[in-house]
Amino acid sequence: MKLPKKVEIIEVCPRDGFQNIKTPISTETKIEIINKLVDCGFNWIEATSFINPKAIPQMADAAEVLKNAKEKHADKVGFIALALNLIGAQRAIEAGADAITYVVSASEKHNFENTRRTIDQSINEFIQVCKIKENVKVRFSIATALECPFAGTIDPSRVVQLVEAGLAVGADEVVLADTTGTANPVQIEALLSILIFRFPKVPFILHIHDTQGMGLANVLTALDFGINRFETAAAGLGGCPYAPGAAGNIATEDLVNMMHKMGIATGIDYANIIDVARYIAKKLEIPLVGHMARLTSCQASN
Ligand code: ZN
Repeated sequence: MKLPKKVEIIEVCPRDGFQNIKTPISTETKIEIINKLVDCGFNWIEATSFINPKAIPQMADAAEVLKNAKEKHADKVGFIALALNLIGAQRAIEAGADAITYVVSASEKHNFENTRRTIDQSINEFIQVCKIKENVKVRFSIATALECPFAGTIDPSRVVQLVEAGLAVGADEVVLADTTGTANPVQIEALLSILIFRFPKVPFILHIHDTQGMGLANVLTALDFGINRFETAAAGLGGCPYAPGAAGNIATEDLVNMMHKMGIATGIDYANIIDVARYIAKKLEIPLVGHMARLTSCQASN
């Protein structure tokens, strides 16, 4: 097995996690949790989403959350904000985002459900986003890159076309999202073997859900292809409002544990992220779904 010495874990709980919780979370609580996550040692945290508050009311305070996070932690952490269109990206830039995750789905139906746009329309708006980005890093995120709740298994050639389109107009990074959390390691291998061959210099990021318990196995497969950046959520929160039944992301603390036990550095304080995961579950009154945070004694790694 080919393993790196270090991986980077991008924490997405405040976006992917919170946006899937129906009960309103106060702005104060969101900021409090982001503060705790910052202390764990992440380089990047996806803090919020600039989407239509009518579609997802939980994200209506996006600007306030992001501005607050930036004011307190701009010197330590880069903050990412999600956008589905030009207006969202403009709002994210105005609020001080260091990076934007711009989402386009590989599946036409999922893209429409998520953005009310065709894939071509989303890409056309992405061209505009790249024109206004200035110093903001633009991450082209391909949702349903492997499986779609509406279209089923996605042909890797579809993803190749999208990667090409995103890079051609100025994407700084490409995120591959197993939005439904139903992809298996063989599918990850099939997709990555094509992408790495076609785009050997592009540092892909994997965004993984764990609906069928295959998330960590998918990480392992991706490591073998040289992928060393992963998006996960503390306490295993997350989901997709337009991918019915999708469970949370891999719990960050579980991935940190696995990496440390395999001798791979993450830069994350394990004891601290366990505490934060437990705090999130208690504060939001949700069950703990991660493996490690449920253990009463954690003889895990640092
Ligand atoms: Zn997700």
